[in-house]
Parts: sequence; structure tokens; C-alpha cells
Amino acid sequence: MKLRLCHLYPELLNLYGDRGNVLILRRRAEWRGIEVEVTRISLGDKLDPKDYDLFFLGGGPDQEQGVASADLVAKGPWLKEAVEAGAALMAICGGYQLLGEYYRTSTGETLPGVGLFAAYTEAGNKRLKGNIAIQVEELGTDRPVIGFENHGGRTFLKGARPLGRVIYGDGNNGTDQTEGARYRNAIGTYLHGPLLSKNPHLADYLLRLALQRRYGEVELPPLDDTLELAVNQSVYQRFLPKKGKW
Ligand code: GLN
Repeated sequence: MKLRLCHLYPELLNLYGDRGNVLILRRRAEWRGIEVEVTRISLGDKLDPKDYDLFFLGGGPDQEQGVASADLVAKGPWLKEAVEAGAALMAICGGYQLLGEYYRTSTGETLPGVGLFAAYTEAGNKRLKGNIAIQVEELGTDRPVIGFENHGGRTFLKGARPLGRVIYGDGNNGTDQTEGARYRNAIGTYLHGPLLSKNPHLADYLLRLALQRRYGEVELPPLDDTLELAVNQSVYQRFLPKKGKW
């Protein structure tokens, strides 16, 4: 099997080590004997929707989002075509915001979005930051997805399905307990950093989504995730003492 991963705007959208997610996906696939090809696509590059099984976009400050947004909107129809055809996608924070309908920054500038997610984002006056834990039903486990968030934008879903429900933290907007968005096999989330290193259950879920388009239902042999799960649990216990152990 071969996984073809498209890393979009790696030099612009890479806050807090978001690109670590690409390394983790590659490693977890290679440990199962799955070949991985990563293509970096950026400003002005053509994107053939048929070439990729998985797209990744990291987060970025407003300025970098401003540089990427027009180009991303131009690539939007290709991205949508790929997602409609079953490709998987993960977008973090600034990348996630640009896949909604628009992002209005704190200076009042409106960056148009791709409209893949039925959602919009507007800057609030206080940044939403700190540790976060969410429950993602599709993972089929009580184990939460943990991470950290740092965003000025508040995202409101206008019909899009949330990725998960906030257990602790702010999520999309700090008010409605939703976190991220989901459309077909595309996932948007505010959880930053090498998110997938602390959440191997989410990493494998994404790999399965990405592989199934080409290979049908794929069983991934289990890996030894003792260390990853210990980190997941210790972060959860340290920052969420009142929520207990799962
Ligand atoms: N610039 C956006 C915001 O502050 C996204 C930042 C990020 O990716 N962390 O809302």
C-alpha cells in the first residue's frame, strides 16, 4: 500500500510544530509497511485532486493566513473535488479557519475561505488559549483527544458537524462546547502542535480514512503506543484533575 500525502503551505502554515503531524503520519504508516510519499504544495503550485489521499494544513498567524488565503481559495475547487471523492484532510487552527466561509481578523480584514466547512470565523477580543480535551465519538473510545489551543478567532458552525465536544477548554468559540468541524473525511480542529503524537487513536483513524479510498476497509496492525498513551493520560490527569481518569 502507498499513502500519498499533500502538505499544503508548509512554510506558511506551521505554528507550534504542526508539521510534526506529517512526520507522525509518515512514521505510523511506515511501521506498518505502508509506503508514504509527501508532496509539498504552496503558492502558485497546481494541485491535482486525484493525486492525493490525505491533505494536511497547519495553523498560522493572521499575516501568513493573509498570504495563503487567496491562493487557497483558488485551489478550493480542487480540494473540494478531492474531499468529495473521499480524500481525507486535516487542518489545524489557521488552516481550519481558511477552510470555512471566511475569517474576519481583529483589524477588520475579511479573508475569504474555501467553504469546505459550513462555518465562519470572527476575531474576538481575548485569545482562547490553554490545554484542551475533547471527546470524538467516531473514535469509538472514551479516551479523549488532548492538545492545546491558541486562537483569537471564534468559529461558529452553520450546519457543519463538529469534530468533537469540549470536555475542557474553549474549542470553536468558548461558548457552545463544539470543537472543530467535520465534512466527509475532512477534519478541522483548533488543537495545535504535534497533536497526533499525543493521540495515536486519532492518528490511526486519519490513516484509515486516507487509505480506504484506494484500498477499501484497512485494518492497521496495532503498534506499541505505551509511551504515547502515557503522555495522553498524564497530560489529561495533570490539567484535568477534576475530570478523573478514563
Ligand atoms: N490567526 C488565527 C487566530 O489567531 C489562527 C492562529 C493559529 O493558527 N493559532 O485565530
